[in-house]
Amino acid sequence: MAEKRDELRCFQVTPLATNCYAYVSEGECLVVDPGGSGAQVAEHVRDARVTCVAATHGHGDHVGGVAALVRATGAPFAIHAADASLAARAGQMSEVGRSYDEDAPAPDRALSEGDVLRVGTATFTVMETPGHTPGGVVLVGGGSAEGVAFVGDTLFPGSHGRTDLSGGDEAQIMASLARMADLIAPETTLLCGHGPATTMARELATNPFLR
Ligand SMILES: [Zn+2]
Repeated sequence: MAEKRDELRCFQVTPLATNCYAYVSEGECLVVDPGGSGAQVAEHVRDARVTCVAATHGHGDHVGGVAALVRATGAPFAIHAADASLAARAGQMSEVGRSYDEDAPAPDRALSEGDVLRVGTATFTVMETPGHTPGGVVLVGGGSAEGVAFVGDTLFPGSHGRTDLSGGDEAQIMASLARMADLIAPETTLLCGHGPATTMARELATNPFLR
């Protein structure tokens, strides 16, 4: 009998081409960063039961689709408490003059360091990584999701997320990147909030902000 395998799906949403991810395991689904098009994302995960909608941080391009996705699936919304008010303004004009589909609802679950999200045989452990925003988190896979991590806008290949927006903090993001380098296994695939994925090993070798 063929071994059942988890599945990672990626949808690009919003004009900023945010990566919205769906992690499917044993018929359950975790959706990460539905920045827009929540109803369409729900259609693309209809074959699974969405057990959690999580945001790596509260910027509109990562949470603008949460409200529609939650309406379509009934799933709880999880985000760090420090970014909940930011998420609640996703549909309004931001400091850089952009708005997204809809304000995110109040979270059903506040994420903090060490919390574990379970989906099928996979786990995702919350690592607090402030700096891009005060409530930014990385979700580190375990169980059948060992070897992947959702890193939001904290790290990009060779770079890190911007720290010049409200609530951003350069010293904090440097500390967050150092913790990631310490705690995330080198072979881990890092799934970024925009653009291509990378690995921790590659970043340790090439990312000037990790050295
Ligand atoms: Zn962001």
